[in-house]
Amino acid sequence: MRHQPRQNGTLRCRSGKFPHLQSASLTHDKIHPRARKWHGLLRAVVWDNPVPYAGTGRAVRIPSHGGQRSAHRTALSPSAGARPLTAPRRSAASRTAARSAHPPPPPSAPTCLRARPHRRVPPAARQPPGPYLRRRPPHPPRHDRRRAAREKHRLCTMSLKDHLIHNVHHEEHPHAHNKISVVGVGAVGMACAISILMKDLADELTLVDVVEDKLKGEMLDLQHGSLFLRTPKITSGKDYSVTAHSKLVIVTAGARQQEGESRLNLVQRNVNIFKFIIPNVVKYSPHCKLLIVSNPVDILTYVAWKISGFPKHRVIGSGCNLDSARFRHLMGERLGIHPLSCHGWIVGEHGDSSVPVWSGVNVAGVSLKALHPDMGTDADKEHWKEIHKQVVDSAYEVIKLKGYTSWAIGLSVADLAETIMKNLRRVHPISTAVKGLHGIKDDVFLSVPCVLGSSGITDVVKMILKPDEEEKIKKSADTLWGIQKELQF
Ligand code: NAD
Repeated sequence: MRHQPRQNGTLRCRSGKFPHLQSASLTHDKIHPRARKWHGLLRAVVWDNPVPYAGTGRAVRIPSHGGQRSAHRTALSPSAGARPLTAPRRSAASRTAARSAHPPPPPSAPTCLRARPHRRVPPAARQPPGPYLRRRPPHPPRHDRRRAAREKHRLCTMSLKDHLIHNVHHEEHPHAHNKISVVGVGAVGMACAISILMKDLADELTLVDVVEDKLKGEMLDLQHGSLFLRTPKITSGKDYSVTAHSKLVIVTAGARQQEGESRLNLVQRNVNIFKFIIPNVVKYSPHCKLLIVSNPVDILTYVAWKISGFPKHRVIGSGCNLDSARFRHLMGERLGIHPLSCHGWIVGEHGDSSVPVWSGVNVAGVSLKALHPDMGTDADKEHWKEIHKQVVDSAYEVIKLKGYTSWAIGLSVADLAETIMKNLRRVHPISTAVKGLHGIKDDVFLSVPCVLGSSGITDVVKMILKPDEEEKIKKSADTLWGIQKELQF
């Protein structure tokens, strides 16, 4: 009868190649970890006596199947046919009888060499040896194996992006080079944002507001249009760290005018908002240009200058840029000429006390005042003065009709942003510190023609004003200073 191995027998590994395994103890259900590393064949000795190295014993070779533990278990289990070598030798007749009673397993099944059937078949009919018998190439050196393992691990942990893209240069601290931030995502802020995006002025546009849901919604809405834009990064956040490294920060945050409310009435509400916004902007973008849009824009430009501590040339108010655009549009409508070819300047305070410079109104250098001396006076039969009145009233009219103004101011702000970002040095009627100009002695910001570039306002064009025009400007300055000197910072 075929001898079954003892269930509780002790197996000991022995190999001339790995003498340190001499004492490695293997049991039926526990394989020594060093044995798992042993590729190819596992040699073991089955001892009949429970005391190691006592009694009789003989080597058996057990396929290790690449060192897999489960394979060892299979090979060592009694059902796999591993026969302890302590069994007495059987006669040839009893072996033949046992073979016919227990046919050998198919060649592919893992088994020890004693149980392998092809030992007994003629060489011509023999199956090729199983994978565990093939001569393996010599192991690569240990450092090669480690490198291969590292490479395998790297390939396993690579993302799709890693597979797709070969990185040529890793930027340590990548940040935008032409970043514009818009503070306040109300009607004006979003009109500014979309106008800037449509002009491809920035490589990053950042939005900031206190109302987080609206802020995120506006950001996502713009991001979903990225395919049609050329601004690769659109970000947003309540925290001002998102505005870091901005070249230009546009402030549109604040309370908006109610129907019939004057711009000056807004002042204290918006000063309080600026006391929070401006220090945060300065903290993260200490070298930016500040472009103030919130109303009353001239006073808030002064407030931003005071709070920021920036030099005057880096604090700009959108001022009469929009008023002049409205004026040129109305003038162009009357003449049937595109506003680009209709030249006229509105200066002074943005809003009710703005001053139209009639002496400078021209088309192709031809002064309209020279052709029509009554222009802008009450005696004018063509009522050109009405145009300026329309300019002053236009914001109130739009607010009455749709609740707020947005598109024209957005486009005019984007025009200023273009001049700054591209260093165009164009002349715009924007709000700047006018102390010393036109007889003004106080720290007020009013609109005059300014040369604008990448460093802010570099120069002011000295307009030749009529005495009544200069008087109006001085009056505006006095009104503004009267409000400003009462402000608490
Ligand atoms: P709006 O009420 O629609 O938007 C104001 C936004 O500012 C809101 O989203 C609000 O959440 C945000 N805000 C308020 N406090 C804030 C804070 N501390 N930090 C960040 N965001 C804050 O108003 P609007 O119609 O967009 O107008 C904005 C401003 O622009 C108003 O002051 C308005 O008078 C002015 N404006 C100026 C001109 C101009 O020619 N200079 C033209 C139109 C409007």
